[in-house]
Amino acid sequence: MKDIEESPRRIPIMAETDVLVVGGGPAGLSAALSAAREGVDTMLIERYGCFGGNITQSMIGTIGWYRCAETVEAGGIGLEFELRAKEMGGSINTFNKEILTTEMGKFLEHKGLLVNGEPTYEILDTEMFKYIADTLIQEANIVPLLHCTVVNVLKDADTIIGVITESKSGRQAIMAKRVIDATGDADVAYYAGAPYRKDPKSALMGVTLNFSCSGVDVKEFFTYYLKEVQEKPGLFAYLRQSRELFFMDELSCLLEPIEDIKKGIKLTNDINIKSFWTHYAEAGDINSFNGIHMSEIDCTDVWDLTKAEIEGRKRIIQAVKKLRKRTPGFKKARLKNIGSSLGTRESRKILGEYNLTEHDVKNQARFEDTIGICPEFIDGFGTIILPTTGRYFHVPYGIILPRKVENLLVAGRCVAGDKVSHAATRQMVCCAITGQGAGVAAAVSIKDNVTCRQVDISKVQKALKNQGVRIE
Ligand SMILES: Cc1cc2nc3c(=O)[nH]c(=O)nc-3n(C[C@H](O)[C@H](O)[C@H](O)COP(=O)(O)OP(=O)(O)OC[C@H]3O[C@@H](n4cnc5c(N)ncnc54)[C@H](O)[C@@H]3O)c2cc1C
Repeated sequence: MKDIEESPRRIPIMAETDVLVVGGGPAGLSAALSAAREGVDTMLIERYGCFGGNITQSMIGTIGWYRCAETVEAGGIGLEFELRAKEMGGSINTFNKEILTTEMGKFLEHKGLLVNGEPTYEILDTEMFKYIADTLIQEANIVPLLHCTVVNVLKDADTIIGVITESKSGRQAIMAKRVIDATGDADVAYYAGAPYRKDPKSALMGVTLNFSCSGVDVKEFFTYYLKEVQEKPGLFAYLRQSRELFFMDELSCLLEPIEDIKKGIKLTNDINIKSFWTHYAEAGDINSFNGIHMSEIDCTDVWDLTKAEIEGRKRIIQAVKKLRKRTPGFKKARLKNIGSSLGTRESRKILGEYNLTEHDVKNQARFEDTIGICPEFIDGFGTIILPTTGRYFHVPYGIILPRKVENLLVAGRCVAGDKVSHAATRQMVCCAITGQGAGVAAAVSIKDNVTCRQVDISKVQKALKNQGVRIE
């Protein structure tokens, strides 16, 4: 492809701050909150109109679904999201009580996902979470900036000193003593020239466009669903029980209706429909269908993003038509909403001072520079490991520290690690841990006047413990 030279120009500095966090997903929110709570000036910038990242853009409220009776919790801001949402009326009870009396109930009980008949977690109401995130940000005196995209960085030799942004206000700069990249795609690290890896499209995790329906006769639907479960207990019987390992498809609550939808749709190889609704309301809402998956999409390629959004919407319309026609309870159903953005799972990963491995996440790795613990929760590449046994690994500082660029930290799903470790670090609970670790480390490094690479890790650990993070 041809290229042209862009002329250099002077641009205004719109703000200066101690810590600048780019990207307002679970990692970015945790980073900004933890930095601000350490008493440094903090700014949080987000390209869309609300904070929350995948939670609010793609309707992913299941931050705590891994939690089993024996799970050792990470603590910190990830847990705070759930507790605060519950307190503010922004969470949803997870399971339909009738379902709990079926094979599925037995299965959930066995997995420790039910304790004394009660679910171990609540789902975040992803619309309410927009407001909850605003509230948390305001309480912590963070300077928020929405509708603003980071498009480049400013450096002094190897040190990042700010970013360049594009918005309706034009091209402007923000100067910062420390920058935390929580863009999910490591955009800032990439612009700063930090080494990274990105698998070929064919090896990347798929993207998903989530949708919801209203006007569902939930009772009729569940009567049908319960009958299915009772008549076909095999649905849950063939779980492969080796420690905590089983296949996602076998957990699929709505396998049968979805199989039915599939029959009527001409699927191409890269578009698959299979999965489940996350939650439902008595009022007739059935929400966040996590099943319009598309593969071979590079979410750092704007043409691929466009293709997947348009193709995904087409599949959703087809799926709703089929649901109305074939699935009991859906006769009068209407499409309620489609995620405001495609949900993405994997793109660039930085090469860090340390790169987490499959061995680490599956063997309870321990690190001197731990910034938190992550329950052994691995979801990706065809398998799921749930933390049913209290196993966990340490999350080392080295995976958020990019090579070659100073005073930049990276948090969330783009931290350093191999393919299987990504299936653990991409989980929101782990994104919150790397975010909180980054925020605290940035603040401590400013207070001690050292670079992020030179920061005294024992001071970071002490501050994290004070913030309620379990680090050992
Ligand atoms: C369909 C689906 C279902 C999932 N289900 C679960 C689940 O049940 N449980 C679980 O724990 N995880 C789940 N995940 C994974 C999880 O949602 C993500 O891995 C997690 O949200 C990543 O968090 P993050 O903060 O790193 O990135 P994101 O949540 O992607 O947030 C990044 C933020 O940065 C902003 N941004 C990006 N680039 C820029 C830029 N240049 N300038 C300014 N802002 C920018 C984005 O708009 C976004 O708000 C799911 C993912 C998908 C796609």
